[in-house]
Amino acid sequence: MATADLPRYPLTFGPSPIHELPRLAAHVGGENGPRIFAKREDVNSGLAFGGNKTRKLEYIVPDILESGADTLVSIGGYQSNHTRQIAAVAAHLGLKARLVQERWVDWNDPVNDKVGNIELSRIMGADVRLDSAGFDIGIRDSWKQALEDVEASGGKPYPIPAGASEHPLGGVGFANWAHEVVAQEEEMGVFFDTVIVCVVTGSTQAGMIAGFAEIEDAGGRTRRVIGIDASATLEKTVDQVTRIANTTADKIGLGREIRPDEVVIRSGWEGPAYGIPDESTVEAIRTTGEQEGVILDPVYEGKSMAGLLGLIRSGELTSENTVLYAHLGGQLALNAYSAIFED
Ligand code: PLP
Repeated sequence: MATADLPRYPLTFGPSPIHELPRLAAHVGGENGPRIFAKREDVNSGLAFGGNKTRKLEYIVPDILESGADTLVSIGGYQSNHTRQIAAVAAHLGLKARLVQERWVDWNDPVNDKVGNIELSRIMGADVRLDSAGFDIGIRDSWKQALEDVEASGGKPYPIPAGASEHPLGGVGFANWAHEVVAQEEEMGVFFDTVIVCVVTGSTQAGMIAGFAEIEDAGGRTRRVIGIDASATLEKTVDQVTRIANTTADKIGLGREIRPDEVVIRSGWEGPAYGIPDESTVEAIRTTGEQEGVILDPVYEGKSMAGLLGLIRSGELTSENTVLYAHLGGQLALNAYSAIFED
């Protein structure tokens, strides 16, 4: 089945908006730099501020509803955007949410486990459990335990792994995103030869790769999807994106394997660890805020924007390019990072 034929439960407002960032482009690249546009997943839904997981969940909800489950069980860090979006979708569907929130980030802000994403999950009635385990994008024991606990108490759990990435349908939402981009390009009279996207658990970029491969194989134009690593575990992430791109390709009936050259992930802007910003992250957040009034977070989008600005400054992206920056959300975590913006 092609992407367009797969069952989708709408959770977003429709196509997410695309707009140009002309002041940022002029500030960073001047005449020799590319045009920069942003596609805004941070404003894609009315469910608890939306974000990239809301789009992924559009293709998972039909399976949830068919399963007859009453509790969504998922996992993330204390400031997980993913678990906040799970809590919102559970509330929207009239289901319960059981969330394992691990100490993925060694970040000692005193309100890290109280404000922002986790506060919203609590407001939406999710059963939030803190766990002291550190960062890992793989499948965790604490999550398996949560599934067993829900069953033991008579519930019917529906498992959604971290970032919804290892779910067999986790990449389809962003395969659909690729088709949305092509339709918007036609309306706008522009072609984005380069897409820049933050990558951690992998299904956002993997879905884009599979979706653009589907478009290219049907005679569409070729473009680059450049992932900017924010996991600081690059090798694992490359493996995970490759695997999920292939699972997604299979789901959307691509009829071939994803080629290694289609999986492009660049490192250098991940900072010292997942969730910890460095100078380039903070500079990217400030520059985008000052030039455009667009807000980025220090865990994900600040890092992918640092990557984009870095590729412009090094001359790798030039006035020959038209760039689409995928803004995937994440701003709520800023509440736990006030110390880096005190002056
Ligand atoms: N940006 C934001 C705001 C996120 O919440 C995430 C989630 O991990 C990402 C980027 C990375 O997406 P993915 O985990 O699909 O690689």
